[in-house]
Amino acid sequence: MGIGLHNAYLEALGIQRWVARSATAATGDAATETPSYSQGDAADSMDWEALRASVAGCTRCALHATRTQTVFGTGDRHAGWMIIGEAPGADEDRQGEPFVGRAGQLLNEMLQAAGYRREQVYIANILKCRPPGNRNPLPQEVACCHDYLVRQIELVQPKIILALGGIAAQNLLHTEVSVGRLRGIRHSYGESGIPLVVTYHPAYLLRSPLEKRKVWEDLRYARQVFRELATGTSE
Ligand code: SF4
Repeated sequence: MGIGLHNAYLEALGIQRWVARSATAATGDAATETPSYSQGDAADSMDWEALRASVAGCTRCALHATRTQTVFGTGDRHAGWMIIGEAPGADEDRQGEPFVGRAGQLLNEMLQAAGYRREQVYIANILKCRPPGNRNPLPQEVACCHDYLVRQIELVQPKIILALGGIAAQNLLHTEVSVGRLRGIRHSYGESGIPLVVTYHPAYLLRSPLEKRKVWEDLRYARQVFRELATGTSE
């Protein structure tokens, strides 16, 4: 989603666009109470360090009040593969890194099956803070956090995005279609058109281990798409 579209999305949800701290200070209104690394700093021009610091101090949505810490993202900042999940869970909230619990171990196994080590990809989530009780993210929370992920994708410039689970896939593709129907298709992410492949979230696989076969199929498919990109061939 481009920034213009993102702003329209925020407006549609009734969420005020964050404005630059200097601008709010000039008006002298209540928005001047924004914390350091204010809500107003636009993520779209930030470098990695500014972006990480901005996320670490973020109070854009109510999740900041219940988090232990933010969970920014991890891995190779020049990776060809970017893995995008839903939101931190309890283990991630404690350790400050995405996919470190049981679902994380399973993700590592999934990546190994695709021929990658965890350090060779970049891993991030739709939300940077844990929703209490691991509930699904609210649309307002996703909208507030959206431009951080957009900027991470812009900075990594991956060759392929693997979306894990319905929340990630539906938000990245702006659809309500289920994971089951999004699998096995080469989608495109946003204006950049980065190829995007959808599979189930590892946490779902922990509850439904019989679905693992489908994930291996999806990973094989993603690898095929990636190789076609590398060699300039197509189906
Ligand atoms: S979830 Fe995102 S928008 Fe909400 S407080 Fe955390 S970093 Fe900020």
